[in-house]
Amino acid sequence: MKIFVDFDDVLFNTAKFIQDFKRVFARYGVSAQLFNKSYVDYPIRRRGQKLKKYDPWVHFQKLQQAGIDSAPIENDIRALLSDTRRYVFPEAKRFLKTLGKQNIMVVSYGETKFQHFKIQNSGIAELTKKVFVTDRMKSSAIGKIIGKRGAQLDELIVFLDDRVEQLTNVKQKFPQVVTFLVKKRAGRYNDKKNKYCDFEIKTLWQAANRIKKIVSQQ
Ligand SMILES: [Mg+2]
Repeated sequence: MKIFVDFDDVLFNTAKFIQDFKRVFARYGVSAQLFNKSYVDYPIRRRGQKLKKYDPWVHFQKLQQAGIDSAPIENDIRALLSDTRRYVFPEAKRFLKTLGKQNIMVVSYGETKFQHFKIQNSGIAELTKKVFVTDRMKSSAIGKIIGKRGAQLDELIVFLDDRVEQLTNVKQKFPQVVTFLVKKRAGRYNDKKNKYCDFEIKTLWQAANRIKKIVSQQ
């Protein structure tokens, strides 16, 4: 069994993290308007896919240019990033422990220092076999594991994500993968299930039960 699981909004309460992240800027007098104006989300285009990523260090630079002393902001952001364990959903830890560390790999999008800090300091790596951070569609990271090593067709392979675009891409490339659309109440997106999503779940607990059921039927 191999379980590939997304990080943001699935294992990690990204909405709450962003709220606290924005609070740091507000504390030093950065208005919401200036925050948004200086926030740069780089579009990355690969083979027709539109993906974005954020780099706070570019953000600090932009603020500095706008006349804000960004040093104390950067300091507080570093402190926030130094321990992100409190943003991991409690049910995520239970989910990972129940299904077993050796079976689980995290696949996260956004190859930045920011994303690495966020994940590394969350404690998730200790509960999983491997963490991948990629700038490509997640199917390429998953393909490296199940493709090259020639996953047995009877092995259960699962992918959980809150973004339909990623689920669709994985299911199209690897139809044997069982795909779960995660729609947590605390999530930032509200993607609609399509034919490439095998299951829609609201809690990881539902996914764990479903996975156990599939295993028992094999
Ligand atoms: Mg996500």
